[in-house]
Amino acid sequence: MKPTHIEHIGIAVNSLEESIPFYETLLGSKCYNVEEVKDQRVKTAFFLIGQTKIELLESTDPEGPIGKFLEKKGEGIHHMAFAVDNASDALAAAASQGITLIDKVSRKGAEGMNIGFLHPRSTHGVLIEFCNK
Ligand code: ZN
Repeated sequence: MKPTHIEHIGIAVNSLEESIPFYETLLGSKCYNVEEVKDQRVKTAFFLIGQTKIELLESTDPEGPIGKFLEKKGEGIHHMAFAVDNASDALAAAASQGITLIDKVSRKGAEGMNIGFLHPRSTHGVLIEFCNK
């Protein structure tokens, strides 16, 4: 279950309203999609750099995962997502290597992707996501 590329990097931000224009200027590229993911209590904004996306994440609930992250650590890189053929298979393969999972099987994320997370305590401190279309 070898990843094909880095699908996106998730960045937790306090405000999409402030961070979207900043990244549009920095990257010289327009934000092409803003989407609320109710399940994860976030609003997301996407930029495309080659085949990798930058995903800005604004919390819609202080008790949600991004709300808690922002309170504890402030703005910054939140997770890295690897594109795989099948996220559920990649999660199962990781589990068989003794890696602790957050999601045992994939669920629906932004842009209709199937996504699932590995626990950062078993990945040297990085929240890693597997995703497939
Ligand atoms: Zn993600």
